[in-house]
Amino acid sequence: MNRIEFINTLTSLLGMATLNDLKKYTDNFHKENAPMPLLFIGHGSPMNGIEDNEFSQGWAAMGKEIPLPKAVLCISAHWYTKGTWVTAMEKPKTIHDFYGFPKTLFDVQYPAPGSPQLARYTANLITKTTVGLDHEWGLDHGTWSVVRQMYPEATIPVFQLSIDYTKPPEYHYELAHEIQELRKKGVLIIGSGNMVHNLRIMNWNLPDAGFDWAIEANEKLKELILSGQDKALLRYESLGKAVQLAIPTPDHYLPMIYILGLKDETGSISFFNDKTVMGSVSMTSFKIE
Ligand code: ZN
Repeated sequence: MNRIEFINTLTSLLGMATLNDLKKYTDNFHKENAPMPLLFIGHGSPMNGIEDNEFSQGWAAMGKEIPLPKAVLCISAHWYTKGTWVTAMEKPKTIHDFYGFPKTLFDVQYPAPGSPQLARYTANLITKTTVGLDHEWGLDHGTWSVVRQMYPEATIPVFQLSIDYTKPPEYHYELAHEIQELRKKGVLIIGSGNMVHNLRIMNWNLPDAGFDWAIEANEKLKELILSGQDKALLRYESLGKAVQLAIPTPDHYLPMIYILGLKDETGSISFFNDKTVMGSVSMTSFKIE
């Protein structure tokens, strides 16, 4: 159904609504062929999925700011696989892939539908490798903690693309480039990880502060992102001591590499939730339009 058909259907269903009222409402929908913005989200603690705090508020605000997507594709730091997979089930389950958190967090269900059709479409766009259609995974907390704060109604289909842990950053960057077309199909692509993420030296007594090296790494990465120095970002291991401490393993960094690989030449970048917490984690997120 296109937008006009949708308006007509709604008008006849509701009877009393004027065409103008409905036009105003549907203006927030994704416009045919306009590329959807891209988001990199620093997800941090799974508790951000249920807490009403500055970070979850930033995510919710972003959900209202950007056009309503037809579906959400998430590349989460927590789906790290051999080979590349896309979730292709009708009803992805909510995965509680963490421990030591309160029962209320384990009780969360995010019953968004999947999109087997878009999963197949995505797999076919990728030529670098054969993408497997997955029926076992679901939505891990890297995905649902963020998406439920953006779209609490859980009516928008959500699917995930895994990160092949056997491949270098360039591979992920190039693979991301191949799925750019999804943006024009109204798919919101989210990379969910953390630019600075060193859990081994995290300090729970510093909820609102970052170690000097964490702040330095956060600033350096932002600078490189803003100035379009993607090549340097792909070789993050040569960016000095602070960045090495920030990225001890690539799992939470690679979702950001996907988002950079998806942007086009003219994309403008804006940061939000730009803050380091617990000493060694940055929540820094950005939108590319
Ligand atoms: Zn995580």
